[in-house]
Amino acid sequence: MLILGGTSEAAQLAVAVTKRFGSNLKVTSSLAGRTRVPRPVTGAVRVGGFGGAKGMATWLRAKRVDMVVDATHPFASKISDNAREACDAEAVPRLVLARACWQPKPGDRWFTVSDLDTAATLLPDMAKRAFLSVGSQRLESFSSVRGVHLVVRMIDPSPAVLSLMDHTVVLGRGPFDIEGERDLLRREKIDTIVSRNSGGAATYAKIAAARDLNIPVVMVAPPAREMGESVGSLEKSLRWVETQIALHRGAQS
Ligand code: NAP
Repeated sequence: MLILGGTSEAAQLAVAVTKRFGSNLKVTSSLAGRTRVPRPVTGAVRVGGFGGAKGMATWLRAKRVDMVVDATHPFASKISDNAREACDAEAVPRLVLARACWQPKPGDRWFTVSDLDTAATLLPDMAKRAFLSVGSQRLESFSSVRGVHLVVRMIDPSPAVLSLMDHTVVLGRGPFDIEGERDLLRREKIDTIVSRNSGGAATYAKIAAARDLNIPVVMVAPPAREMGESVGSLEKSLRWVETQIALHRGAQS
């Protein structure tokens, strides 16, 4: 089994399948290699790109992979597209373990936009100090923003000079709690947040803190992706794995 990971859900899945299926299932988790010191993942781990959909297809064939669970981040659309193409080409069953998007609650002041470029164009009219929680790989969209101080959170310090005009970097890795997020927003005098609607619990605290402090959030909707078979919970993905094992055994006997 291959788990496409880099998320807390993928790490939890690796623990759960190892616990439930033990030596009946050989599990490898795949990470892109973006963070310097990734959190430990149970079982075998491979790091780095496959070389596109074709490279992944070759890998699936070489490792005789029987099933793939795509538990990547909802904004990591390239790897998900590649997984769909590679699994289709190699006739390997694939499941997407997808998070539900966050939904606005009473008191939230969300401005939903379709992409980061649109978020960047809104900022000068609404913010003096904006908190960008958009992933360190996606900051180029904000390089032409003028007149707004940008507070950027990233896991590791950037090896390159950021192409942002006026900015501060804060380092941090989720999960974050609401008290910490409230402190950060107050300390940095944030008047607007830009966030991707990633769903999940690990990074939701800033949204709850924004609601408490009456701070508007420019919320970027996730890219549409062709999921195929998908589930929203760990338990359901375990059931899918169980079914795949049974089908595989049936095909072999
Ligand atoms: P992406 O744009 O969808 O992928 C770009 C390329 O990175 C892919 O074509 C692939 O290279 C490689 N790649 C991505 N995920 C991989 C994985 N799990 N294993 C092996 N190669 C992978 O992805 P991204 O947005 O840069 O995110 C990279 C990883 O970080 C993902 O695994 C994702 O789950 C995790 N993550 C992303 C975010 C985010 O904000 N986007 C947040 C939290 C975690 P090749 O084409 O060479 O195979």
